[in-house]
Amino acid sequence: MIKSKSIKKRRRIALQGKKGNGSVKWNSAIHIVAHLFNLEHYHWSQSPEAEGLVAALSKLGDTPNETYLNPIRTFHTNTITELLTTIAGITGLLISLALILIMTSSTEFIRQVSYELFWYTHHVFIIFFIGLAIHGAGRIVRGQTPESLLLHNISFCRDHLEEWQARCPAPQFSGKEPSAWKWVLGPVVLYACERIIRFWRFQQEVIITKVVSHPSGVLELCMKKRDFKMAPGQYVLIQCPSISTLEWHPFTLTSAPQEDFFSVHIRAAGDWTEALCKAFGAEGQPLKEPWNLPRWEPISFLCIKVSTR
Ligand SMILES: Cc1cc2nc3c(=O)[nH]c(=O)nc-3n(C[C@H](O)[C@H](O)[C@H](O)COP(=O)(O)OP(=O)(O)OC[C@H]3O[C@@H](n4cnc5c(N)ncnc54)[C@H](O)[C@@H]3O)c2cc1C
Repeated sequence: MIKSKSIKKRRRIALQGKKGNGSVKWNSAIHIVAHLFNLEHYHWSQSPEAEGLVAALSKLGDTPNETYLNPIRTFHTNTITELLTTIAGITGLLISLALILIMTSSTEFIRQVSYELFWYTHHVFIIFFIGLAIHGAGRIVRGQTPESLLLHNISFCRDHLEEWQARCPAPQFSGKEPSAWKWVLGPVVLYACERIIRFWRFQQEVIITKVVSHPSGVLELCMKKRDFKMAPGQYVLIQCPSISTLEWHPFTLTSAPQEDFFSVHIRAAGDWTEALCKAFGAEGQPLKEPWNLPRWEPISFLCIKVSTR
């Protein structure tokens, strides 16, 4: 009952993760398309055909004492080149590529065929978050300064361009303060704490007390770890350095909380689990009666490292 509750919770988290991914995908697409349209609009505003308020605002910044609003300063330029010479452009491109890699390698098909490809590619999230944190640092999005807004009557001045020198002081603009890092900081700090706790936990010694090779390629490992307290439905991440120092695989705890050990049942489902069964000499076991199953007890060789979840 408690375990099924935990599984439901895990499924709910997975579903929320999927919804979150969907919203990141669509919001990013809207953000990119909006910026591209804006860039083209900025460029066109510098063309000889542009007139009215748009042209007047775009020309600001050419003389001393004026600040600019339009980051594209001349019509005789290529918008892509302009884009790729800004922090926002370079980081935006990196973030988009990282997101495309993460999204495409997270599909169920890729996870089924090559979980490692999905797992390692997912780590470009580091580039994604660094890029996101500094994306606005170039302050490419500009607005009229609060001081200028006090002196410059927008509703009057926007309709009286000919009065700009006489009754309307030139509006002053500045780059908007970047804020993405504020949204990134909290989750990144939490993630870093989780990694540190995991690192600290996996340094602790694990003793394998019993190994049972069940029929149908299932390996049961009973383990002990100092101060380890388990909760029903919990899973542990297991690493076997002799197989791979990078791979950590999750397995649900199958022992009861009152027992003085904790156990997992591992089904040989692919490369890593098969190698683990082989490491314990349990690969290709013919079906046996339960009382004839091989047991090793107690074993204390440290093939594995465990990090709790
Ligand atoms: C929370 C959780 C609890 C789990 N508990 C158990 C358990 O108690 N017993 C058990 O036998 N298996 C359990 N699994 C599945 C187990 O982690 C994978 O079968 C194992 O990691 C396969 O690794 P592989 O390299 O041998 O297989 P691969 O050839 O890499 O993949 C075989 C299958 O396992 C999936 N898989 C591979 N690696 C992972 C991973 N790190 N996380 C999730 N799925 C993966 C793949 O998508 C594929 O469908 C659990 C998975 C999760 C997410």
